[in-house]
Amino acid sequence: MRTLLKNGRILDPSQNIDMVGDLLIEDHQIEAYGPNLDVADVQETYDCTDMWIVPGLIDLHTHLRQPGFDHRETISTGTQAAAAGGYTVVCCMPTTQPTLDSPSLVDYILDAAASPSSGGAFVQPIGALTVGMKGEQLSDLSALRRAGIVAASDVGAPTQNSRVMKRAMEYCTQLDLPIIAHCEDLELSQGGSINEGPVSAMLGLRGIPRSAEEIMVMRNCLLSLHTGCRLHVTGVSTWGAVEMVRQAKYLGAPVSCDIFPHHFCLTEEDVGEFDTRFKVSPPLRTQVDLDIIVQALNDGTIDCIASNHSPYASHEVDVPFGEAPFGISGLESALGVTLTHLTHKGILSPLETVRKLSTAPAMVLRLEGGTMRHGETPVAQITVVDPNHRWRFDVGRTFTKGKNSAFHGMELQGKAVVTFCGAEIYRDAAFPESRVTTSRKRS
Ligand SMILES: [Zn+2]
Repeated sequence: MRTLLKNGRILDPSQNIDMVGDLLIEDHQIEAYGPNLDVADVQETYDCTDMWIVPGLIDLHTHLRQPGFDHRETISTGTQAAAAGGYTVVCCMPTTQPTLDSPSLVDYILDAAASPSSGGAFVQPIGALTVGMKGEQLSDLSALRRAGIVAASDVGAPTQNSRVMKRAMEYCTQLDLPIIAHCEDLELSQGGSINEGPVSAMLGLRGIPRSAEEIMVMRNCLLSLHTGCRLHVTGVSTWGAVEMVRQAKYLGAPVSCDIFPHHFCLTEEDVGEFDTRFKVSPPLRTQVDLDIIVQALNDGTIDCIASNHSPYASHEVDVPFGEAPFGISGLESALGVTLTHLTHKGILSPLETVRKLSTAPAMVLRLEGGTMRHGETPVAQITVVDPNHRWRFDVGRTFTKGKNSAFHGMELQGKAVVTFCGAEIYRDAAFPESRVTTSRKRS
């Protein structure tokens, strides 16, 4: 079986490739790419004129909710949403019920992800750093690693005890297992629902101070520096947090970080009249933070863009602001929001955009993917992006069960239109049938 992607802009940050050409997928493997490939016996040709051909996107921060919260999302609906958003790999957080702290649960998730009912994206599980995410006793990370986790994380229940975090980092250094940390001092943030400042005061809501995030970013970066543990800070949102990461990198700590799309294009002002769709953790910050964040994306201090896909059922979100959960469903909007607010504004080049969404996430967790190098991925993971397609993000048209999104109704420019993940192909209506040519296989 030969599939040819014709005349697209091939972008592969892992090899600094940015050229117009064709890409051949044969038996679900990337076989060749280059200008004007001369290939016979092609079964399917996709005309990718004016489109990008990129390594499949990789999300470091997805909540798939299964087991335990299947009314919010399942592995099946979550992976369909991933493919529709251009992702071929999602790393799922341990915030399930029970918590992902046992090898048998890792098996369960990998089995469910491999079943035919799942969508066209690979699932890479992230184990709970501590048993039951209680922040006390370390999980059996060695057994979890053998079962297949790609990182350990305290997302959902940030580790407060510095002694526990230090021990976790020492242990993970031995295992060569990265830690993905959600940085929040709960004593400072408790009870807050939006950024602490004039807006929280005006709305009469308790605020979450920026220091709640920055203190923990600093602590975790210092522990990484002193233990040598690979630390990935997820969801930086303040200029202070960005500066801490910058300093840690300067000092030689093995630290990387990501940002969620809403933190580079929305501010606390967008919360408006208690709109729960804008309630996120960490909270939306200020224009000053946005200005520094945009610089840090541009200069590489912020390595990756992660979706923090956090689906909830409608009845969980349609409640008073103070009671609403934190988070938005992000897999199907992340690429469009990034292209609209960073790429088309000249903050990230096309190659750097793909690096933040695919190549860098693969490097952070040492995953197979984020590249077009022959033989470096088990099967072809390729996304075709129409960078100029104009569309309105509509939660009514998404695959995820979670319809909670701050981007609902937003005009976006750029969309994933075809996602190839091995034998699975997702094709969006924005990639018209007329661009696909199928020839009957010779007998
Ligand atoms: Zn999260």
